[in-house]
Amino acid sequence: MRYDFGSQMSFIRRYVRAARRLIGSSRRSGGEPRSFSCSICGGKSFRFTPVLWPGLVAEWELSPAEARYIDRQQGEACVRCGGNLRSIVLASALRAALETERPLLRLIRSPKMKRLAVLELNEAGSLHAVLAKLPKHVFGAYPAVDMQALPYKDGTFDLVIHSDTLEHIEDPVKGLTECRRVLKPGGALCFTVLVVAGRLSRNRRGMPASYHGAASTGAEDYVVHTEFGTDIWEFAARAGFSRIAVLTLDYPAATAIVARNPPG
Ligand SMILES: [Zn+2]
Repeated sequence: MRYDFGSQMSFIRRYVRAARRLIGSSRRSGGEPRSFSCSICGGKSFRFTPVLWPGLVAEWELSPAEARYIDRQQGEACVRCGGNLRSIVLASALRAALETERPLLRLIRSPKMKRLAVLELNEAGSLHAVLAKLPKHVFGAYPAVDMQALPYKDGTFDLVIHSDTLEHIEDPVKGLTECRRVLKPGGALCFTVLVVAGRLSRNRRGMPASYHGAASTGAEDYVVHTEFGTDIWEFAARAGFSRIAVLTLDYPAATAIVARNPPG
């Protein structure tokens, strides 16, 4: 029997917010080492604060493996900067796009990074506050800025970034095609989206409305149009990107995509 993925995610987001408050209040003490360091600050200790509990896991019919990685993606955070795995792997994608291993907090102070025109579509987790410091940072948020009809000229940006937004776009290929259009030749799109490992993507058209984050309000901008599976890369390929890489820190808890615009 299938679980209701959308309502699960709204529960998850709610408890992630509670978990972040917990993490924030105690981030300066304790933590466990991992096989990777934080791509945002270089921190080496991580604290896991569960956001799911057995009753909820049973109610949602999550397999133990699914519950574990969804829990870690949102609830495992760097002790030093507080970024969770979703934000950390997005920072890894940015570093890969720029071909550097420097932590993002150091990278943004570099002259090279300051020259880059960066478009962030909706708040990209804890990277938002970091990216906002860049002089050529442009922030576009729905509904003023719709990924399917971006109000920017062709070839404007070196980087386009979004995080857990693509599932809310009615036509994700159209959205990604727009991201590619506004990128300069050779520019890169870096994004995260929740991927359910071992499944293929499916469009929810014709199915009951499903929401992330605002089930009680049913706000249109939270409607989930696509549940992404491990064929996520095909959406970027259909949008015309020429090189598509999947970044993993800890599969499947932390994955991100880097998609390159053909180099002119
Ligand atoms: Zn960190």
